[in-house]
Amino acid sequence: MTTVDSPPAAGVETFESLDPATGEPVGRFPVHDGAAVRAAVERARPAAEWWWGLGWAGRAARLADWRRVLAGRLAEIGELVHREGGKPVDDALIELAAVLEHLDWAARHAEKVLGRRKVRTGVLLANHAATLEYQPHGVVGVIGPWNYPVLTPMGSIAYALAAGNAVVFKPSEFTPAVGSWLVATFAEIVPEQPVLQLVTGLGATGAALCRAGVDKIAFTGSTATGKAVMAACAETLTPVVIECGGKDAMVVDADADVSAAADAALWGGLSNGGQTCVGVERVYVVDAVHDAFLAALTERARELRPGADREASYGPLTVPAQLDVVRRHIEDALARGGRAVVGGPESVRPPYVEPVILADVPEDSLAVQEETFGPTLTVTRVSDVDDAVRRANGTRYGLAAAVFSKSRGEEIARRIRSGMASVNSVVSFAGVAALPFGGVGDSGFGRVHGEDGLREFARSKAITRQRFPAPVDVTTFRRKKGATKRLATILQLVYGRPARRRR
Ligand code: NDP
Repeated sequence: MTTVDSPPAAGVETFESLDPATGEPVGRFPVHDGAAVRAAVERARPAAEWWWGLGWAGRAARLADWRRVLAGRLAEIGELVHREGGKPVDDALIELAAVLEHLDWAARHAEKVLGRRKVRTGVLLANHAATLEYQPHGVVGVIGPWNYPVLTPMGSIAYALAAGNAVVFKPSEFTPAVGSWLVATFAEIVPEQPVLQLVTGLGATGAALCRAGVDKIAFTGSTATGKAVMAACAETLTPVVIECGGKDAMVVDADADVSAAADAALWGGLSNGGQTCVGVERVYVVDAVHDAFLAALTERARELRPGADREASYGPLTVPAQLDVVRRHIEDALARGGRAVVGGPESVRPPYVEPVILADVPEDSLAVQEETFGPTLTVTRVSDVDDAVRRANGTRYGLAAAVFSKSRGEEIARRIRSGMASVNSVVSFAGVAALPFGGVGDSGFGRVHGEDGLREFARSKAITRQRFPAPVDVTTFRRKKGATKRLATILQLVYGRPARRRR
């Protein structure tokens, strides 16, 4: 099998990425040390100025060209995502569909969201004009995970580029070939300057990027690493956006379409081998429909099969160490009185994990409290929706949620402590480019995607311009006698009245 090589200079330490299904090498990449990462950031600085100088229309045109290149080579990147990350090619294509949507949206909306505009000055400074614009940070460091090796980093890269920044991208050590491919395609469209660069390596390379003088870090990965990234960035007050893990819940109400809910729970929980930050890990089902839901879920779960072939439902676990985590969560759930309705500890057959459905798992179990990141679901009977919401909100995470209910889905979704929620579907919000994406609590903070995502990669610049002298000027040592009294009169007239009722 051919490998994707990025030939390192002589004497440079290297590492290999492997096909998780076969263990065969996919690519060999340099381990960039602190000096190499700093050099990349230094190269990025003039590139950032050049990129910003292209203007909104110039950048939008280049990003549209990049989108066209990506769309034209979907099969190629789909195959590489499959080989290096393990997910079925068809699932890679679904990931890439969302990538194209976001790249297109970010490029088309950047000027409208971030561009210069007038704002009202209010009564007191009516003699001024005021403008607001959002300027790029400069050089943004993007640190990505492996589970959605294109979509997840692009949630930051596309928006950071559209906002006018240069980007230095450190992909996961498990998916550097995909990262390298992405950066190479961008360079075909923007050959003039290193506006998007790749640095590769292990965790230390990511840590070096945090300390390399970047103007912002966009991190996506585990909560533990997110804390380390934030601590490193604190040394230089480098701002961060932190997108971490989740323990997302699905709530199934008494009036839900049970069949659709079971189908969605399986897709949300087991697709991509359960290695989805916004995947479903826990399901709370109202008593009236619990048995019907569990029956539908277990019947369909038994039809699923992991594998590396085209017909497989999902692939291997990408990171071998995760197999132990999944096994530990299953064993802990059973030891605490939970039931394995489908599969069990024996379902962990490296590099695969067969479907596992656990019922009656106590809320303090690992399988309920910690991110499992495997093809497992816990299903819990609840007395009513209030009980479901209370339990859904009972972890330190708060990334996303799903609700199945015909009559009050949005009402329930709004009560769940999470950054996103989908009603009568799973994960749909991730494909709506206009919606911000991010979590609360241990799931992180800050937002990618949408208008908030564009603003995350820019800083506001506020300017006032005096158009004519103020009739009552109080901010001068030469102010007229009685000026502050007149100001007080104006203040009473404007603000001393009851609030105007909104029509
Ligand atoms: P990790 O936290 O292990 O790694 C994430 C990235 O950080 C990798 O590129 C990693 O490099 C790098 N890294 C490791 N150590 C450091 C360090 N000290 N300083 C800076 N960077 C470092 O996460 P995973 O790659 O295992 O990804 C899975 C996790 O990501 C899950 O928890 C999942 O929920 C979360 N995730 C969150 C998403 C969201 O949007 N909220 C989306 C997708 C995933 P290396 O790989 O070389 O170690």
